[in-house]
Amino acid sequence: MDPMRPCAFLDRDGVLIEDTGYPHRIEEVRWVPGVMAALRRLNAAGLAICVVTNQAGVARGYYDEAAVGRLHHWMAGEARAAGARLDGFAYCPFHPEAEEARYRRQSPRRKPGAGMIEDWLAHFPLRRAGSFLIGDRETDLEAAAAAGIPGHLFPGDDLDGFVAAILKGI
Ligand SMILES: [Mg+2]
Repeated sequence: MDPMRPCAFLDRDGVLIEDTGYPHRIEEVRWVPGVMAALRRLNAAGLAICVVTNQAGVARGYYDEAAVGRLHHWMAGEARAAGARLDGFAYCPFHPEAEEARYRRQSPRRKPGAGMIEDWLAHFPLRRAGSFLIGDRETDLEAAAAAGIPGHLFPGDDLDGFVAAILKGI
């Protein structure tokens, strides 16, 4: 049996939760419709699920990395409570025009760079074949293309229906 699984790389803001403009407070998070059913569907299809999210809000000083970690921990718990599994979270706090010098950087991990995706593929038993990305921006799709995997532009609304259509096409 092939121990390597394909992975669904999911953008966070605008795909899993509503992009309300640098969302970072748990009490303000709004999940997108169909999200938990979509995650369960991906789990059942044997895909790993890794979140890849640019968090320039850290670079801009809107919130810190601890807030990002808290939010992701909470999201993983909510998924678990709904019978779904989020396998991993990667975020990129860097931005070339960051307020803070330590975050002021052109990072290959920042989408449209493929760094976060490549890191997951390099360090975990995931295979590129059969993997794909879902994002809500062109830069997400560019990151997918740079990693050599299909990218799907989520128009909003029902994530489960969107995922079902993607899986049907694989
Ligand atoms: Mg997004």
